[in-house]
Amino acid sequence: ARIITAAAQLDDEALEATIRPRRLDEYLGQQAVREQLSIYIEAAKKRSGALDHVLIFGPPGLGKTTLSHVIANELGVNLRSTSGPVLERAGDLAALLTNLEPNDVLFVDEIHRLSPLVEEVLYPAMEDFQIDIMIGEGPAARSIKLDLPPFTLIGATTRAGMLTAPLRDRFGIVQRLEFYTADELTAIVRRAAKILGIACAPEGAQEIARRSRGTPRIANRLLRRVRDYAEVRADGEITLAAASAALDMLKIDPEGFDELDRRLLGVIIENFDGGPVGVESLAAALSEDRGTLEDVVEPYLIQQGYLVRTARGRMASARGWRHLGLVPPPRQAL
Ligand code: ADP
Repeated sequence: ARIITAAAQLDDEALEATIRPRRLDEYLGQQAVREQLSIYIEAAKKRSGALDHVLIFGPPGLGKTTLSHVIANELGVNLRSTSGPVLERAGDLAALLTNLEPNDVLFVDEIHRLSPLVEEVLYPAMEDFQIDIMIGEGPAARSIKLDLPPFTLIGATTRAGMLTAPLRDRFGIVQRLEFYTADELTAIVRRAAKILGIACAPEGAQEIARRSRGTPRIANRLLRRVRDYAEVRADGEITLAAASAALDMLKIDPEGFDELDRRLLGVIIENFDGGPVGVESLAAALSEDRGTLEDVVEPYLIQQGYLVRTARGRMASARGWRHLGLVPPPRQAL
């Protein structure tokens, strides 16, 4: 498996549970998001009402699920969790909604993948705390209205652009998570190391942070792999030298790019003269899934200025050429 994949992996689960922040002040970085949410949460608590519905978007591994749990904790309510693809029938959603207690949080991951039928049920639930359900079948069927307790829907998505307009409009609070800075990730690595009892020098934490693609989930995973290396090869302490050697061994380069990142840049440059190339052709050339490229690989390369998304397709920037040790053609150098 790709070690720097931002998607959750099995061995992450157990350890994640111990290091996942539970309160807003343990949730590091994302300053603006935190500041706004702390105000909305306090206001909702003062009114003893439900917090407005919240939409959180951003690439995988940046802390959408974590933030949802933090919000529920800070509100002092339960969180029920589900996801877009899991909610197949309207009845699945109705069952969840009717079991909520007042002001509870319903977390829907991958909310852009809800079926249209389920989405229809969600609209009146979000707007008026009511659902229509069908009873019986055939000519005897009738629909009855059920009142729901006030609740907060928190939707998470990697692609805000894929939400339908009516769904998007029903969220009062919309928050976008950004890639974390190296300093923020360093703080996250140091906090996790402390909780897991790993000896980690500040420079070691910094090195892991620098190579984690701006993503806390990757930082936490690399911390564990580097720990293994340090235990076997370096007296157990994660020093700068141990961290760099371990990360080099994992083929994660100084920018935090792995082989897939480099292959993506390489294919654009070598097979398509630097681009522009459409995402489908790119996915085919790399034998990768288009969604993975768009959600996981590209966002960081774009944010760091190695890849450019144009109307005609993807292009490697001058920086992308140089990263592979190549000289960009003149038009790229502009
Ligand atoms: P997403 O839902 O966006 O894919 P998660 O919420 O599952 O991401 O986050 C992945 C892991 O990264 C969490 O389990 C947590 O340990 C860590 N993490 C995420 N955001 C933060 C943060 N702001 N501060 C500290 N750790 C974080």
